[in-house]
Amino acid sequence: MEYAKSIYTNAPGGGVKIDKLPVQRLPEHNVRLKVLLNGMCGTDRGIVSGGLSFAYNPQNSDKLIIGHESLCIIDEIYAESEEFKVGDLVVPVVRRPGDCVNCKIGRQDNCSDGKKHEAGITGMDGFMREYFYDSLDYIVKVPDKEMIDVAVLTEPLKNVVKGFEVFDIVSKRAIFANEYSTFEGKRCLVIGSGSEAFLYSMMAREHGFDVIMTNRHPIEDKKLEICERFGINFVDYSADASQITGPGNDLLIDTSGDPGTIFRFLKTLNYNGVLILFGTNGRAPPAQLNGNDIDFFIERNITVAGTVDAAKIHYIKALEYLRKWKYAYGNTLSQLITGTYRPEDLEIFTKKPAGEIKTVIKW
Ligand code: NAP
Repeated sequence: MEYAKSIYTNAPGGGVKIDKLPVQRLPEHNVRLKVLLNGMCGTDRGIVSGGLSFAYNPQNSDKLIIGHESLCIIDEIYAESEEFKVGDLVVPVVRRPGDCVNCKIGRQDNCSDGKKHEAGITGMDGFMREYFYDSLDYIVKVPDKEMIDVAVLTEPLKNVVKGFEVFDIVSKRAIFANEYSTFEGKRCLVIGSGSEAFLYSMMAREHGFDVIMTNRHPIEDKKLEICERFGINFVDYSADASQITGPGNDLLIDTSGDPGTIFRFLKTLNYNGVLILFGTNGRAPPAQLNGNDIDFFIERNITVAGTVDAAKIHYIKALEYLRKWKYAYGNTLSQLITGTYRPEDLEIFTKKPAGEIKTVIKW
């Protein structure tokens, strides 16, 4: 039996430890991946705090190796491949298919019977470990070695690519884009100022939206500088919400998972507006809608769309955006990575470093 240093929990109860754990090689595994970097996200912290009730261990195990954001290098290949070779930088796919029709066509992000698994989250060991075995079917190649400093952002960005795919479909039910088929002149409000909020805001700018990012407190100067570079306007709504409520918004994206804040800003949506629900927070206080709120949503044709995870196609597109932004914005893109830690620095799972956008673990 082989062993690798691994970061693990006991889901859904929580906690976090680091130790040498067995590395399994299944018959379908035809590649060995050495982990270079893991990204830390709100979901990892939720699992460790015990706040994510849907997380669970692999079958017959009392441990779940966590981590779903990663950048790896191919260590060994045990199959013929025209696409991959030893030394390639790759990003592994998080969701693995179950039995439903969506899973069968490679869209396990839209799994319809709940039998899919998610590495490091639901029933499958994740990527926070020195190395692991996988199948070539579930890795995506980083097209350019120069992207080594930003490719760990692929996994969180692929969620955003899918979120915008959902928005694109929903927005086509009415005339939403302008006469040039862009969203210039439309406004997008993004709730939250973590990594997903930054990536959603950047993607909204890419689509031509005027973008406001908002939180209930001010953000650090470094974050403000990044906002400025990408043309994102930050508003601390606890100090002044008039910039948000005044002109109204066309697209509202939530990364906070806080119902009170979402409902507050839902009422700022213009006719045919769209709310994308993305953030999760099982411990957020409840909030109530009343009958007049419902009338408002109906009268304005408001669409509420939840979106989770993404498919291989979204990873590929995310890598294209990262490549473009890397060259278009110089080192501003890599500044989204605000801290690099050792695997032993387990305190980052329970204490967010000040000014964090994306914290990474370097193996
Ligand atoms: P994160 O860094 O924790 O971001 C959450 C952001 O929301 C933080 O900036 C937080 O501010 C802010 N926030 C919390 N309550 C707020 C409120 N009442 N008003 C305004 N802002 C508020 O996490 P992340 O990695 O960016 O991920 C964002 C969320 O998406 C997490 O909940 C994560 O679990 C979820 N997620 C969903 C998917 C999916 O497929 N749907 C995938 C990945 C992640 P503070 O820093 O002040 O707390």
